[in-house]
Amino acid sequence: MSHEALREAVAELMGSARQHLERLVAIPSVAQSTQFPPERCLEAARYVAAAATQAGVRDCRLLEMPDGHPAVFGHTPAPAGAPTVLLYCHYDVQPPLGEEEWTSPPFALTERDGRWYGRGAADCKGNVVAHLTALRALGGAAGGGAAGPGGAAGPGGAADLGAAAGPAGAPAGFPVGIKLIAEGAEERGTGGLEQFVRQSPEVLAADVVIVCDTGNFAVGVPTVTTSLRGIASVTLTVATLESAMHSGMFGGPAPDALIALARMIATLHDEQGNATIEGLAADGHWSGVDYPADQFRADAHVLPGVSLIGSGSISEMLWARPSVNVLGIDCPSVADATASLQPRARARVSLRVPPGMDPVAAQDALVAHLEDVAPWNARVQIERDAVAAPFAARTDGPAYELMAQAMRFAFGREMTTEGEGGSIPLCTVLQETYPEAEIILMGVEEPRCLIHAPDESVDPREIERIALAEAVFLQACAGLRR
Ligand SMILES: [Zn+2]
Repeated sequence: MSHEALREAVAELMGSARQHLERLVAIPSVAQSTQFPPERCLEAARYVAAAATQAGVRDCRLLEMPDGHPAVFGHTPAPAGAPTVLLYCHYDVQPPLGEEEWTSPPFALTERDGRWYGRGAADCKGNVVAHLTALRALGGAAGGGAAGPGGAAGPGGAADLGAAAGPAGAPAGFPVGIKLIAEGAEERGTGGLEQFVRQSPEVLAADVVIVCDTGNFAVGVPTVTTSLRGIASVTLTVATLESAMHSGMFGGPAPDALIALARMIATLHDEQGNATIEGLAADGHWSGVDYPADQFRADAHVLPGVSLIGSGSISEMLWARPSVNVLGIDCPSVADATASLQPRARARVSLRVPPGMDPVAAQDALVAHLEDVAPWNARVQIERDAVAAPFAARTDGPAYELMAQAMRFAFGREMTTEGEGGSIPLCTVLQETYPEAEIILMGVEEPRCLIHAPDESVDPREIERIALAEAVFLQACAGLRR
């Protein structure tokens, strides 16, 4: 199919995309919540499985993950010699978090000013629908086009639309092999899919992986996420006295643990706010999209007049350098404070590490640094948290280049790259398990989506353009040899 024909096919499918999203958003598939029964997750899983079947993905079924949550999996084998592409998304959503803060009900897809509002509209049901729309545009259901059976927008849901799909066993119309995995507990972070990949690597094995759970730097700016930071945190305990002692009688010569802790924490940054952990490079460079400081200030809710920290650009500080922060301190609260020197104090020190940095070596450096800077021979005990490796996507492979071309066609401008300060453990597991596969992170989520917050929304044009880019990409992928 020509690219223009795909563009038309996707445009024609947008009415049906909206119906799918409406139905999916109406199911409050919040994983492991006391507020919502697990049956709702199952209902969402079944809906996705039926809709994927209708879009031409064969053998769609629910797989129980090691953490007990069902994931939807389907597989249409590749035509001879063609590669297989794994499409990832998740169907579970964040809880609504204060329904009274929503302008319209969280589980009723509502259009305002050209955006569609509802929990999961972007993260990640919007991406589920983008995958479905791309597959339907390619006509995988019956080897026909988008206007074929089930392609037109109908009032029915996936179940009744499913009856209109091509006959079972009909030859697949996809130009490449398609594996679809829709996870059901991503927002819970219970790691079921990661464990599953490690236990049964053959099931999801593919030549290319499209992880649709991120998105564009801004609406209309095609972006792939190429870098995720890892984690190497510790919990630090400092002790100086056997017990709390009167601050008037002993303060002066007796060391207080809270001051000792504060002095140690103060060594983690220089005056400008750059991380200064012995042995840890903090001068990484970023060559992707530039994150304007004003926009970052607004996104990060920094108080007026308060400075941003670090000598690098925002993108560098956020995506290419380590960041060290204190997330909590155990000590008496001000309200409970008495006139006593504190014998012991504890802090949770968070360390995020950029791609290229070994998280274990970084944690070693942090531990050695803290031991080294303890004042007054204070006793120091350090507990290590589990580390998570950072992720850097390959950007020199053929699939990356094909995606850049597909994005250029769908958005009418050059694709750019961004990083994410947080981590997606699945990406690291996929990279370790399928070292040959190219992994591309993209999707319909952009800053205005307010994912995880009240009034989450999606821009339907982003669904349309991402679906088109994916369809063009999948078609072009047929030319990649396995
Ligand atoms: Zn998500």
